[in-house]
Amino acid sequence: MATLRVAPKPTLASMKVAQISKPGGGFEIVEREIPKPEAGQVRIKVQACGVCHSDVLTKEGLWPGIQYPRVPGHEVAGVIDEVGAGVLAWRVGQRVGVGWHGGHDNTCRECMRGDFKNCRNMKVSGISYDGGYQQYMLAPVEALAAIPETLSDAEAAPLLCAGVTTYGALRHSGALPGDLVAVQGVGGLGHLGIQFANKFGYKVAAIGRGQENAVLAKKLGAKVYIDSQEKNPAEELQTLGGAQVIVATAPSSKAMSALIDGLSPNGKLVVIGATFDPIEVTPLQLIIGSRAIQGWAAGAPAESEDTLNFAELNGVRSMIETYPLEKADEAYARMMSGQAQFRVVLTM
Ligand SMILES: [Zn+2]
Ligand SMILES: [Zn+2]
Repeated sequence: MATLRVAPKPTLASMKVAQISKPGGGFEIVEREIPKPEAGQVRIKVQACGVCHSDVLTKEGLWPGIQYPRVPGHEVAGVIDEVGAGVLAWRVGQRVGVGWHGGHDNTCRECMRGDFKNCRNMKVSGISYDGGYQQYMLAPVEALAAIPETLSDAEAAPLLCAGVTTYGALRHSGALPGDLVAVQGVGGLGHLGIQFANKFGYKVAAIGRGQENAVLAKKLGAKVYIDSQEKNPAEELQTLGGAQVIVATAPSSKAMSALIDGLSPNGKLVVIGATFDPIEVTPLQLIIGSRAIQGWAAGAPAESEDTLNFAELNGVRSMIETYPLEKADEAYARMMSGQAQFRVVLTM
């Protein structure tokens, strides 16, 4: 008997995304078609995405050449649910993260030297292409870091930007076990920096504003807490012998300038808190004692994996507040308020 065959209606699977449609615009929750990965890409079913202060670059259009609408997010944790052509090293079902390092070209001078972190044509997730404020995202394989088993997605997400930045800044700083290392700022970056510095075997001085985080800073591994509202942090560091390294996490150039005299001879101020105003220092402050100031940005995926593995091994954990994707607006406002304890994470 003949059966009537009706062609099935094509059902385009859709997903929710939180997008910014113009510089300075608010978050719009919209439905989009789930994209297909192209050659060299994977599709990630996003489980969690951290809300980083650098998302302001996308939200406010502060990074040149952003095309809108754009989905922010560069602290992405999820699971690969489809791979594009030619992807051999990654498989469906693998847990992966994407951080600030959203891909490199493999052809510029720095890439030829293996310095992918400083690729001249580096891509950033959530800036160069749509990031993790959505249920599914596409990412090039150059951006992928494997997430170890026992870290949850929400715990792993902030480690992919805040974590790898503090971890890298400290482990490449030249400080040796037992050295006095100061972490300025007990916030989203600082609370991770204190933990890493402690686990690296440094004598850790945490510098914060007010007493409210003093107990917590010590619980996270600081031996000394310096309240910058009560005392001059540079003088306090000098009474302890001077800091070999100061990692400046709080985005205040004025506060950073005030720390330079707290360095020991051959000491280094490593700047990771991003601001637009200048740090003030006299040549003499640097010449006497051969002191240095250096900046540090996140890191390539191999360094992200090192960060995640180290965190898993040594119990370093992000303290997080979670919000559903639909409340991206609220989550972003909470991050911008500076009141979050300490990283804000969207869950899908
Ligand atoms: Zn970030
Ligand atoms: Zn390159």
